[in-house]
Amino acid sequence: MAQPPRKAIVIGGGIAGPVTAVLLKRAGLDVELFEAWPHATGIGGGLQIAPNGMHVLAELGIADELIRQGSIADAIDFYSQNGTMLGSINQDMQRRFGQPAVNMSRAMLNETIISLAWNENVALAFEKRLVRIEDRPDQPIVAHFADGTSAEGDFLIGADGVHSAVRNHVLRDGPTPFDTGLIGFGGFVPRAVVAAALNGHHMAMTFGRSGYFGYGFSGPDDAMWWSTQPMRGVDAAGFHAMDQDTLLSHLKDFHAGWHDPIPQILEAARYSIVTSTLDVATLPMWSRKRTVLIGDAAHACSPHAGQGASLALEDAMRLPRLLGRGTELSTAFADFENERRSRVEHIVAVARRNGNQKGEFGPAGAWLRDQMVRIMLPMTAHARNRMLRYDPRAA
Ligand SMILES: Cc1cc2nc3c(=O)[nH]c(=O)nc-3n(C[C@H](O)[C@H](O)[C@H](O)COP(=O)(O)OP(=O)(O)OC[C@H]3O[C@@H](n4cnc5c(N)ncnc54)[C@H](O)[C@@H]3O)c2cc1C
Repeated sequence: MAQPPRKAIVIGGGIAGPVTAVLLKRAGLDVELFEAWPHATGIGGGLQIAPNGMHVLAELGIADELIRQGSIADAIDFYSQNGTMLGSINQDMQRRFGQPAVNMSRAMLNETIISLAWNENVALAFEKRLVRIEDRPDQPIVAHFADGTSAEGDFLIGADGVHSAVRNHVLRDGPTPFDTGLIGFGGFVPRAVVAAALNGHHMAMTFGRSGYFGYGFSGPDDAMWWSTQPMRGVDAAGFHAMDQDTLLSHLKDFHAGWHDPIPQILEAARYSIVTSTLDVATLPMWSRKRTVLIGDAAHACSPHAGQGASLALEDAMRLPRLLGRGTELSTAFADFENERRSRVEHIVAVARRNGNQKGEFGPAGAWLRDQMVRIMLPMTAHARNRMLRYDPRAA
């Protein structure tokens, strides 16, 4: 009988990678994690981890710390551009689903997960960009890096995100990321800027005639905000190249006349990050021989369902659990894909549909869209609850 695998190579130090590395290490495996970029702090905007993702952070023992440093979102309220309330969803999640939704900075989440991995003796290597994988019978699997070095293991997990290099190994000529035509902007402002306008600890999201704006508390002193806009001539790279004054002045012009406190947020903003909104078509398979994909590498999820990071966390918990059953690697990988595929593909499709509501509308189209939002929010509550109720620890 084949020896059970003893050493995992994990590619990607974002969300799924370090979490799966910690859980594999706790299960008694040797793990080496490789991240392409130097170790950095303070990068990125805000994000929300939904109750389904918070269960994983609770299992890791870091949920309370993240709640302390972030901010619980009690509900999400939707508005039209002039400030008319269209509906409210996701109330009282801590009681209903066992964990709250928590807003936080991506940097803080990443730093907390990476520190945990250090503390649990996961071998972490930065500035190691995977370029090639060699998987020959009767030999260890080998990861080759851009700096000419390599690492060996018994199997390899690709947690290297939407631009995954591991995906190219699993699927030669497979789908590549495409731009959905929406550009994301975002950052943080002092909490006081939004405190009076927010309904308690609710988040607020506003559908405009063109684009979308959201904000909510993200920490004891901060609030996060983001703007989503359809591309009109200038693409994300073009905005990226602008200096911050020009960028912020574009944002103020774009959202001029939107309801309060949106103009005040943009007045208070000192910088904005810029992201393109990418999607990847469904992959026909998530693994090949001794390599498996998780998180965005397997099923990139556009940000419009607020679930990509939570799905990555779910994967990061389920894969080690299935590997722990002691079956052949190929069986564990197939079980992982069978278990996860329908859930994640449903949510990826929801995110795509939500993204379609953030494009360009004429006055009549925007009015009609707002009425649809008003009607659909309660009608889709059941499906949303199913998505949020999932507890990967109990699955
Ligand atoms: C603007 C925006 C807002 C979002 N908001 C939310 C939200 O509110 N809630 C939510 O749940 N999700 C949100 N998402 C989605 C979420 O960020 C992703 O789904 C999540 O980060 C996926 O985690 P991951 O670990 O799979 O990939 P990532 O977090 O992308 O991590 C991948 C890592 O792999 C590294 N890497 C890449 N290539 C290589 C290589 N060749 N070699 C070594 N390392 C490599 C990368 O540098 C990175 O560190 C948002 C996304 C965007 C763009």
